[in-house]
Amino acid sequence: MTDARRHRDPSMRPPLVPLATLIGRELRGDKSEKPTLKCGHHAFAKRGEDYFLIKPDCLRIPGNSSSSFSVFAIFDGHNGVSAAVFAKEHLLDNVMSAIPPGLGREEWLQALPQALVAGFVRTDIDFQRKGETSGTTVTLVVVDGWRVTVASVGDSRCILDTQGGVVSLLTVDHRLEENAEERERVTASGGEVGRLNLSGGQEVGPLRCWPGGLCLSRSIGDTDVGEFIVPIPHVKQVKLSRTGGRLIIASDGIWDALSSEVAAKACRGIPAELAAKLVVKEALRTSGLKDDTTCLVVDIIPPSSDCCVLPSSPKKHQNKFTSLLFGKKSQNTVGKHTNKLSSVGAVEELFEEGSAILEERLGKNFPLKANSSPFRCAICQMDQTPNEGLSATAGTHFSPTSRSSEGPYLCVECRRKKDAMEGKRLSQSTVSRRKEW
Ligand SMILES: [Zn+2]
Repeated sequence: MTDARRHRDPSMRPPLVPLATLIGRELRGDKSEKPTLKCGHHAFAKRGEDYFLIKPDCLRIPGNSSSSFSVFAIFDGHNGVSAAVFAKEHLLDNVMSAIPPGLGREEWLQALPQALVAGFVRTDIDFQRKGETSGTTVTLVVVDGWRVTVASVGDSRCILDTQGGVVSLLTVDHRLEENAEERERVTASGGEVGRLNLSGGQEVGPLRCWPGGLCLSRSIGDTDVGEFIVPIPHVKQVKLSRTGGRLIIASDGIWDALSSEVAAKACRGIPAELAAKLVVKEALRTSGLKDDTTCLVVDIIPPSSDCCVLPSSPKKHQNKFTSLLFGKKSQNTVGKHTNKLSSVGAVEELFEEGSAILEERLGKNFPLKANSSPFRCAICQMDQTPNEGLSATAGTHFSPTSRSSEGPYLCVECRRKKDAMEGKRLSQSTVSRRKEW
């Protein structure tokens, strides 16, 4: 008798395993599977505009400790601290509320990149509504088991150091000076890109966008800068091998002084807490205290290992190989769901997307589950009545009548924001701001 036939006969089914036993097995399985995280933090303030977040105890399912994940973030503020403080307080909640409830772990991780986009944009809209002008970079890292998801706007980098001295960059620098694709996007959306002009006509400093004079092309906040400075994050999701790895998340005070390889090498073999101090110290030693300098080090340690970190002296030829592979800056848009094995460090790249076009980021099937209202805004998660939506979006691509084929549903205000980011019209916040002036 084949297995299939045997199972069709009820009398021959294997005995049922009680649910509690199954859950117990799963819990034990999860525990032995999951790596241990250790985190260190160190900072030196010059202007006091860097903020950070360490939340090691988040739960996907309330009350279920096996559904835990950890969040680490850096917010490098400019033109005041209010955007950095606001993002620190609200961004994570906004991201989590954009994930449909009741998803299993795998579905949850797959929904995370879109939820990060929705959460970043919502946080920006909410902050701009306050009418304050400050802005902030954000690099937000979600670690769930061996899976690392990084979302970032601005230039606070996150690097990953793995066995064998392989260092990879998980973020893209949104700096106008260094990112030609972003310069093109800003110009096409109505901004001007150029250097600061001194009175004698001499151009100085990095490329900036005008109006505003910001040298970043993406941020949260910056109400007084054009809407082409967008809060849509570059998102990358990777799966580490069972040998684990080390994340170094830091503001540009570190990266202006140290390359990714030098930062990683400066602290190899050292526990996370001390490693963060060493990276900051090395940056200060190299360049002095020119800017706020904040560093988080997160070690993702195999469960069987007491060892805190990666070995201190990787082979030399591997370092050369790495710098060849990662010497080139990433582009904004790369293949979605790359799903390929990286040739180095056995890090599996699961997802990467950096487009600034909202339709490309939220996709047709957002939110994933049909149990929410068809007229729930994909960004702010507010339910609209069909009439509101229809009158607001008539004749547009985001009309709710065509949402199934042409993208997610957006409410009036989020739609206005989307158009403003693409240079199609001024957002409400920009309009009200100009009236105040
Ligand atoms: Zn909305």
